[in-house]
Amino acid sequence: MIITEKEKCTGCSACMSICPVDAIEMATDEDGFLSPVVDDDICIQCGKCIRVCPANKNRNSIVENNFPITYAAVNNEKKYLEVSSSGGIFPVIANKVLENRGVVFGCAWTDSLKAEHIFIENHKDLVKLQGSKYVQSNIGNSYIKAKELLENGREVLFTGTPCQIAGLKSFLNKKYDNLTTIDLICHGVPSQSFFDGYLNYLSKEAKSKVIGFQFRDKRYGTRYIGKALLEKGKKIKIYPVKSYYYNYFLKGYIFRESCYICPYADSKREGDITLGDYWGIERYHPEIASKDGSSVILVNTKKGEQLLESFSEKLRIVHSDFKKASANNGHLIKPTKRNSKRDEIFNLWRIGGSELVAKKFQVSSKENLTAILKNVVPYSVKRRIKKITCN
Ligand SMILES: Cc1cc2nc3c(=O)[nH]c(=O)nc-3n(C[C@H](O)[C@H](O)[C@H](O)COP(=O)(O)OP(=O)(O)OC[C@H]3O[C@@H](n4cnc5c(N)ncnc54)[C@H](O)[C@@H]3O)c2cc1C
Repeated sequence: MIITEKEKCTGCSACMSICPVDAIEMATDEDGFLSPVVDDDICIQCGKCIRVCPANKNRNSIVENNFPITYAAVNNEKKYLEVSSSGGIFPVIANKVLENRGVVFGCAWTDSLKAEHIFIENHKDLVKLQGSKYVQSNIGNSYIKAKELLENGREVLFTGTPCQIAGLKSFLNKKYDNLTTIDLICHGVPSQSFFDGYLNYLSKEAKSKVIGFQFRDKRYGTRYIGKALLEKGKKIKIYPVKSYYYNYFLKGYIFRESCYICPYADSKREGDITLGDYWGIERYHPEIASKDGSSVILVNTKKGEQLLESFSEKLRIVHSDFKKASANNGHLIKPTKRNSKRDEIFNLWRIGGSELVAKKFQVSSKENLTAILKNVVPYSVKRRIKKITCN
């Protein structure tokens, strides 16, 4: 049984979730991505998996008339901003839902650094979901659990990449007043196996197991510098210019095939609210720009609009427009372009694993110099330079 064309499959897991006889397993494919495999001995040919697959449907986005409305925003509270990747909008929304005794679904690290969807019911667990994990998260049984909670009348907030939100809605196949969805602006996802290989490589280099990973540590700036925690108690700064994984992620070389033809990379969004980085905020909305990160919020539905009204006092927020927000964030307009480097990297990886990929990794001296300058020049000076060059 073929559910959809391989390159269109986003790995959302809707097919596995809907199968009435558990004939579908999400198994690791040759690039390390979870993809559905049907056991033909168990399959009863009901066709539910084919019908639920968002890749087989006409794009049915939920954007209503007069939407999206675009905002630039930053969380008022530093404690949230520090842990979150952008302007810390997700924790404000999640807190609102948790205050109403609702449930929040999102991506967390497991103890062995696997990106997985979980749900939380307490404020103390919020930190698990904060921060972007730049690895495709495993949905597991989250759609099934969300449905059960919705049917029991619980308020549910479900967050994820746009393809995961599309998968959830297709699986539910019904509108629930008690469901709110947030999709992220997303430029693509690498696989868990590729990330595992990178962690093994890092551990070998550091002679200590990596036990924690944060892709964006605000203490090192709002751009992309991360941190790996080692078993021996030390930490390593992860610079995109030195880390093959981070570099290839940012350049879009190691994504799932479907990411390069992503149908969700446009202004018609899947979530009631869309969150992402507001790159270029210093230019368009300097009055709220923060050295700790900033967000673009797209409000896509009436429900999203009502939700925003309920938490906007927690934010510094101004009206913006889609053109400005997407000027430096191309993934709001079109998918990442596939580069031939993808084949080179995955070929190397299949032959010699992460060791060989790391060995062949090189950055140009120009990239190196730019990265050093970005880190040396303080934020206040960068802002002044930007102001001068933009006027
Ligand atoms: C793979 C990926 C690619 C992205 N690409 C872009 C981009 O190109 N441009 C852009 O503007 N923004 C991008 N983002 C979104 C951005 O990094 C922030 O996640 C977003 O702005 C929310 O930030 P926040 O500060 O409001 O809250 P945070 O506290 O940072 O919120 C984290 C939210 O992201 C969810 N999340 C974290 N990791 C994953 C994951 N692997 N899969 C699904 N959900 C996850 C959590 O469940 C939570 O809802 C990307 C995020 C991911 C995960």
